[in-house]
Amino acid sequence: MSELINKISQFFASQTIDLFIGYKKGRFGEGKPAFFTKPEQLKELVFDDKCIVNLAVYLRKPELKKYSKIGILANFGTLRALLQLAAENQIVDGQYLIFTVVDGKVLEFTNLKAIEEFVSKNLPKPNPERVALLKEIESKPREERWDWWTREISSCIRCYACRAACPLCYCEQCLVECNQPQWVGVPPTGIGNLEWHIVRAMHLAGRCIGCGECEAACPMEIPIGLLTQKLNMTIISNFGQIPGTKLEPNYALSTFKVDDKENFIR
Ligand code: SF4
Ligand code: SF4
Repeated sequence: MSELINKISQFFASQTIDLFIGYKKGRFGEGKPAFFTKPEQLKELVFDDKCIVNLAVYLRKPELKKYSKIGILANFGTLRALLQLAAENQIVDGQYLIFTVVDGKVLEFTNLKAIEEFVSKNLPKPNPERVALLKEIESKPREERWDWWTREISSCIRCYACRAACPLCYCEQCLVECNQPQWVGVPPTGIGNLEWHIVRAMHLAGRCIGCGECEAACPMEIPIGLLTQKLNMTIISNFGQIPGTKLEPNYALSTFKVDDKENFIR
């Protein structure tokens, strides 16, 4: 850690950055998001496998606009979120100083292309237990699948912690908060819950980078990440697009090719 702390301290001293987003140890030993504005605070900086929060979620918060330059310590999910945000024109090259630590060695990414290369070389295979669970759900008859999902979703209390934790849920006004017209019912019951989960999943289809933060944040332990994972698997197999791996804006659900085989589009 000392190499990283020295490096970040120098960036503070030269006024290259005025905020560093990283982690410090939480009460239960977890890596807790931390905002450092002075080098002397950096003694609390930690980075290990308990630092799982996706820090990219903070980058689009209005509270950070007062800082002129921000550094960020990125775990793998954060790096993928940064790529996806760049592909969606939400961040630009050079806007942040981005670091990670691999086998005790500090890596500073000089540009987003370097992150793209790093991610492509280190992309993990999907978790086999999750894939097996998805296959098990898929193998059920339609009525049973419907019962499974409506049962899971019925416990949603609509706290929107999943939305707050997601680095790719960045709309300034979420559709669920529109009331003229009101698209989604407000009470955390039946049809309103279904609408919320379908809207959320469809808005993240082909964009979700699978960091798992939504599920980790859910107080009701609803396996909502399975929905976006399933949609992503369909997009990957049909369009070959893996979210959070490429800088080019090339989103399957918002691009159109004139030679598209689907004649109904014309
Ligand atoms: S896994 Fe959840 S929190 Fe992470 S990008 Fe996908 S929807 Fe957002
Ligand atoms: S975090 Fe869980 S309970 Fe809260 S809105 Fe999301 S799915 Fe529902």
